[in-house]
Amino acid sequence: MKTVSSFFDLRAARLSLDGTVGLVPTMGYLHEGHLSLVARAKAENQHVIVSIFVNPTQFGANEDLSKYPRDLERDLSLLASLESPGTASQLIVWTPTAEMMYPSGYQTWVEVEALTKGLEGAMRPGHFRGVTTVVAKLFNATQPHKAYFGQKDAQQAAVIRRMVADLNFPLEMVICPTTREADGLAMSSRNKYLSEAERKAATVLFRSLNVAKALYEAGERDGEMLRRKMKEMLASEPLAQMQYVSCADYDTLEELDTVTGKALLSMAVYFGKTRLIDNFVLR
Ligand code: AMP
Repeated sequence: MKTVSSFFDLRAARLSLDGTVGLVPTMGYLHEGHLSLVARAKAENQHVIVSIFVNPTQFGANEDLSKYPRDLERDLSLLASLESPGTASQLIVWTPTAEMMYPSGYQTWVEVEALTKGLEGAMRPGHFRGVTTVVAKLFNATQPHKAYFGQKDAQQAAVIRRMVADLNFPLEMVICPTTREADGLAMSSRNKYLSEAERKAATVLFRSLNVAKALYEAGERDGEMLRRKMKEMLASEPLAQMQYVSCADYDTLEELDTVTGKALLSMAVYFGKTRLIDNFVLR
């Protein structure tokens, strides 16, 4: 495993790679969800680049940038445990700094329009502008054949897929399933902020998505009914403060009156100061 930080060193490392390259962008504080993306990238490519960068431009003024959990040493040892010794396959970990990514005078942004207006985009103004800009920079710097993202961040995956198509990035996007704890809570770096009681209560996201999924599977197609049942389940948990609940078209992310094709059930819920998101895809 090789760790690089500057664009110069990343470029040299990238040029030394012969064969296909998979990129896994992360903000670090790695968990099983991130590692499942790295494992998939390793299985599908000769080499893998994992970026670890807590991107300041995707955090709002009132968000948790300075408190975002970081533990590079632990991240590196988790990644080292995935290495395949004795093979030609390389694992490169790229850890740029904010100063490298956004040097003084920086003023170029990538913005996806309609898809970023609702859901997370509505609650976190400017968030996706930061995401698409940094991901475009990661793609340019690493020139991957495939890039791996989690279904956990469903809108992010949709927005980046749009950007890849619109800007003709010559790569394939791979969206990986959400890794969950045994009780259904989606793994997230932010789960560490939860108190013991909040951690127990947080399973309500999974429970609420399951209620709607069961109704859907029993034939319910009324979008408003599915949203209402998810809200009712969230309301039954005193520690959960719902921010939004959605039943939207999978591609356009527009709210549905009637579910006809592929749809996305999604939600954002506060537990104290910790904001969690989760989603299910209905097919
Ligand atoms: P983050 O470090 O939170 O920016 O996440 C980096 C990548 O890992 C993103 O593509 C996320 O969607 C993905 N990811 C985060 N949590 C999970 C999870 N529980 N299961 C699968 N992928 C995940």
